[in-house]
Amino acid sequence: MTNTELHTDLRTAVRELCSRFPDTYWRELDAREAYPEEFVKTLTEAGFLAALIPEELGGSGLGIAEASVILEEVNRSGGNSAACHAQMYIMGTLLRHGSDEQRRQYLPKIASGELRLQAFGVTEPTTGTDTTQMKTMAVRKGDTYVVNGQKVWISRVDYSDLMLLVARTTPIEEVKKKTEGLTAMMIDLKQAVGNGMTVVPIRAMINHATTEVFFDNLEVPVANRIGEEGQGFRYLLDGLNAERILIAAECVGDGRWFIDRARKYASDRVVFGRPIGQNQGIQFPIARAHVNVEAADLMRIRAAELFDDGKPCGAEANMAKLLAADASWEAANVTMQTYGGFGFAEEYDIERKFRETRLYQTAPISTNLILSYIGQHVLGMPRSF
Ligand SMILES: Cc1cc2nc3c(=O)[nH]c(=O)nc-3n(C[C@H](O)[C@H](O)[C@H](O)COP(=O)(O)OP(=O)(O)OC[C@H]3O[C@@H](n4cnc5c(N)ncnc54)[C@H](O)[C@@H]3O)c2cc1C
Repeated sequence: MTNTELHTDLRTAVRELCSRFPDTYWRELDAREAYPEEFVKTLTEAGFLAALIPEELGGSGLGIAEASVILEEVNRSGGNSAACHAQMYIMGTLLRHGSDEQRRQYLPKIASGELRLQAFGVTEPTTGTDTTQMKTMAVRKGDTYVVNGQKVWISRVDYSDLMLLVARTTPIEEVKKKTEGLTAMMIDLKQAVGNGMTVVPIRAMINHATTEVFFDNLEVPVANRIGEEGQGFRYLLDGLNAERILIAAECVGDGRWFIDRARKYASDRVVFGRPIGQNQGIQFPIARAHVNVEAADLMRIRAAELFDDGKPCGAEANMAKLLAADASWEAANVTMQTYGGFGFAEEYDIERKFRETRLYQTAPISTNLILSYIGQHVLGMPRSF
């Protein structure tokens, strides 16, 4: 089977699955700020979230191109992959840097859905994007790390069995480079919550199951450490290209959903005796947004090809994420404008998707930070921070 045939088959299968979860499903969850449990369960049981796990460990051993097609189609259907996309990529750290024993212990269960690893604890309230300054400390005492500190915006903790935590194991004053001394470790949430770990939901603009997490002498077995002590930042960077490409694909899916809605509404809605889409003031912005979504998609495809060929793709993955996030946001704005007042009504889903796609200007990495990466690492301009 060629890649194109594989992608067509995947798209058809994901579309069929998503058709069982219509707009009303997502709208109702959004109103209640509830987790799309049934959708995530169905997607997991169909094997889609195990796309990147090797076959010998229970997954389907597909590439990032295929994984990105899956998430794109979820968002293209009007759903929101953010509920579960992290199940696809957090495990990459475990796959690349975990021991054989850890891989065998966790990955088959993650592939089957018996275990959910979709919480990733990095961001902190006082240090934000400046990750190396994080304050959460894990101090080794014999066979355990004792963790103290605080994380913020940690999503899906309440719907995960495991969390990948990054904490400082060597104080920043004692390392040669600020990127050293951070360590990745697996937290068993069933054991941890209530025993040194407290989770507090954050009510947010979108339905994202996001939380604030507090650690007060949480004990984590040293056996749960992933890879070497002090190398956590390197492992974090290793996983970023995959994350960027997958999010870019979600944005492309959002963009296509918006354009589709806008073009239909503009063709049907009659004001001043003609469809509003006959007015170039309405038609051209929709056409331009479509052009930008399709252009962003090409960069996402390029980044995915390089990634799957094992070639460097930092520049392309970052550019894809930036272009796709901008394109989906432009498409969202244009669609809001096309719908007029009805864009604000919950029953059309435009305002929900508008809120959801806005996230990708800020998380998991903000637009400015991507531009600084391009300016510094691709164009060789002076470092700004
Ligand atoms: C809904 C949601 C879910 C999230 N889920 C997770 C999660 O599961 N796990 C996790 O670890 N984190 C998560 N995050 C955190 C997210 O990754 C951060 O919000 C994001 O990286 C930005 O960090 P910050 O909010 O601290 O902003 P800050 O770092 O305070 O930055 C604020 C603004 O200033 C800009 N800025 C900062 N420094 C510079 C500079 N030097 N030059 C130019 N501009 C600059 C930034 O681009 C940004 O626009 C989530 C966030 C949200 C909103």
